[in-house]
Amino acid sequence: MGDGSNPATTGRCMCGDIRFEYLGAPVETVHCHCESCRRHASSPFTTFVVVDKAAFRCTRGAPVAYASSPGVERTHCGRCGSPISYENLGEFALYACTLDDPTTLNPERHIRVAEKMPWIEIGDRLPQFRTQREGRNPGVVPAETA
Ligand SMILES: [Zn+2]
Ligand SMILES: [Zn+2]
Repeated sequence: MGDGSNPATTGRCMCGDIRFEYLGAPVETVHCHCESCRRHASSPFTTFVVVDKAAFRCTRGAPVAYASSPGVERTHCGRCGSPISYENLGEFALYACTLDDPTTLNPERHIRVAEKMPWIEIGDRLPQFRTQREGRNPGVVPAETA
């Protein structure tokens, strides 16, 4: 969908049973180090692109939903298992590497670094937050702009 001035961003699961698109720019892109993301993705941390859910749609197939904690639903492909989305009451996010071209994203910060694996060393200069937004690690990062 979309027209020439506002092309859709597209993505898919590993096997291609699930394909999706969203219109417009992402709300934000973040790296999350929390245990739930770690479990769902089987990966030490996860990168999310937060989008407007109203601008998102599946163009092929439908992912399987899993309620990972109260008020939180995560989805994955029922065939290949690729994690697809994360949703809570106020936010809808896609696992960033489901995008056809994740190289265009600009991650803005690390969140939930209190839960970070001790053997992951963050080497970029993005702001780091111990929790979702507050409790930034003192002395680690440049001034927050948000
Ligand atoms: Zn799949
Ligand atoms: Zn997380």
